[in-house]
Formats: sequence, C-alpha cells, structure tokens
Amino acid sequence: MKEFEYTGHLHIHSSLSDGNAPVQEIARHAEKLGLDFICITDHNTAEGLKKGLEGWHNGVLVLFGVEINVEKNHYIAFGIRENVPHDDENPQQVIDAVNALGGFGYLAHPVEKGNPFFMKGRCFAWDRWDISGFTGLEIWNFSSLWRIAYNNKMKVLFWYISDPYRAARFPDPGGLAIWDSLSQERRAVAFAGSDAHSFKGRIGPFKLSFFPYEFLLRTINTHILLEEELNKDLPAAREQVFNSLRKGRFFIGSDYLHSTRGFRFSALNNDEDEVSIGQEIAYSPATVLRIVSPSPRGLIRVIKNGRVVYESREQILAFKVLKPGTFRVEVFWRPFFGKPLPWIYSNPIYVRY
Ligand SMILES: [Zn+2]
Ligand SMILES: [Zn+2]
Repeated sequence: MKEFEYTGHLHIHSSLSDGNAPVQEIARHAEKLGLDFICITDHNTAEGLKKGLEGWHNGVLVLFGVEINVEKNHYIAFGIRENVPHDDENPQQVIDAVNALGGFGYLAHPVEKGNPFFMKGRCFAWDRWDISGFTGLEIWNFSSLWRIAYNNKMKVLFWYISDPYRAARFPDPGGLAIWDSLSQERRAVAFAGSDAHSFKGRIGPFKLSFFPYEFLLRTINTHILLEEELNKDLPAAREQVFNSLRKGRFFIGSDYLHSTRGFRFSALNNDEDEVSIGQEIAYSPATVLRIVSPSPRGLIRVIKNGRVVYESREQILAFKVLKPGTFRVEVFWRPFFGKPLPWIYSNPIYVRY
C-alpha cells in the first residue's frame, strides 16, 4: 500500500515557557536536520498560536500543543486553540476539558522516578490512574531518562561527555508495560519525544548548554504515515498531522542510531484488504503481518498482546497471524559491537474477530 512518510519531533519546550530558544531558532535546527515538522509543547500556554508562530518556517511545519499541569500528571494536548486550566490533583478535569474542545492528548513521562541529586528529587510522574479518555502515553522521553539517571554527578558528566545518548538508549519499561496492557483493552497510542529544553548550566567559569536542540532533534523522532501528500495549506496539513497522532498512524524511530525512514508494518488478508500502523483488520485464516526494516542490521520483534512472539534478523518479514490480538513491532539496531539497541517502536495494528 502506498503511504507518504513525514518525519517530525514532538515534545519540545521553547522560550515561551522554560526552554532556552525561541521557536524560530528551534525551527531552524529542525530544518537543518531535514525534519518535516515539529510540535512545540510549552507548559500551560497557547502563546505560540496567539503570536502567529504556527505554520511553515522555511521547510519545516511548526505546530503547537500544550503540556498541561505543573508538579505532576503532565498531559500533552493537541488540537486545541486555547489554554486549558491546569489541575494537578484532578487530571481527569484536564483530559475532559481538552476532549470537550475537540482535542486529544497523552500522559507525559507517566512513570518517571526522581532522584535526590536532581532538583531535590522532584519528578513529574502520574499518580492518578483512575482516568479515562486520553489517547495514549509517552513511552520514550529522552530528558526524563536522564533525570532518572542523574544519581551521581561524576558518572553523569562522564556519560554526557562520552555519549550524550547513553541514559536514553532504552525506553522506560514501566511505560511500555502500561501501554501494552492498555492496548489490549482499547486503542492506545504510544507517543515519544525528547522533552527538549536545551538546559543552561555552569561548570566553574564556563556557561554551557546541555542537550542542545540541534542534538535532541536527531534522537527520538516520530514518523507519521499519510494516505496523501502533506497539504500545502496550513489547516489541512495540521489536520493531517494531528489525525495521524490521534489515531496512532505513526512509528517512533531513534534516527540518532541510523535513519528509520522506510520502516513499514502492515497486515493483510489479500491484495485488496491491507491495513497499516494504527488501523484495524478483521481476522481471517489468511491474515499475515508484513514488516520491512529500513536496514539489514535490524532485529525485528513481533509483539502480540505485550509478549514477544517472534524475533528475526530478516529485513523483510511475513508473519502468519494465528489468532486475533493487538500486534506491534519493535526493531532493535544491531551495532558492530555491543548489544542491540532499541531503534523503532511501531504503534499497534489491531487484528479483531
Ligand atoms: Zn513534563
Ligand atoms: Zn515537557
């Protein structure tokens, strides 16, 4: 099936909240890196829209979401044109208010753990699970993984200098487990990003910028799949991107390890009956999953209802479905030395009775 793939980066903070660069500068970095779109998600503000910053900045489509709440239960909402009052204690209010405005959203860094050496142990996890009506949750957040790792100054400094990707190589298993259990009951979209801030810091007399945007925007990207080319008209293009995000018509790829462009995952009964990531298909004895890895150095894992059911080093894989279920795919990157690293996480295809 013909699909048009566009690469973007989600969960970015600009100087409209606590990030350290204006939107225009972040868009310039994205353009240099060859991204098609970015979503700026500043804390509790719709200022970007009010300032007319939405739209194409040279070649990059800049869209806005909002990260709502303060100390915990952060909710990343898209598809709303105004700010929604935050309510840390009752995040269901926030979810409902976003839905009432026609928007949708994700639980940000839901299982983050704090540590005493970073911001005095502050962390921003979710503590309310009696919630409903959200689209999905964040499974891979670059900055959150570093917040968790920050338990020894020297270690962190060594890691940062030797390999700034190190703490974020593996998504949080807690988030993956919640996603897997949720997606067996209902459609649940996995979301990811860097939570980019480009923190300013100081070591002795030196002022430094940690994890600058130009680095983070190369890491955990979002590849949306469209049936048609991205429209040149802003409202139509916004609708296309947000629809893909809402329906889970995308995969997450760590383009830092190697480009993930070209990954495909579909399910088919015959030539006329084929669906792709984020869609549903009726089970038949002929149902097959088809997976294409962008590189022969991938290790494909087929995951059904949260459990690995097949693993393969083939680049193109056909997998026979024996029973309905929620199927998703992970691809690990096989480096020349060392163990395979998480590289691609697809959203599910739902094979139904
Ligand atoms: Zn947050
Ligand atoms: Zn954030």
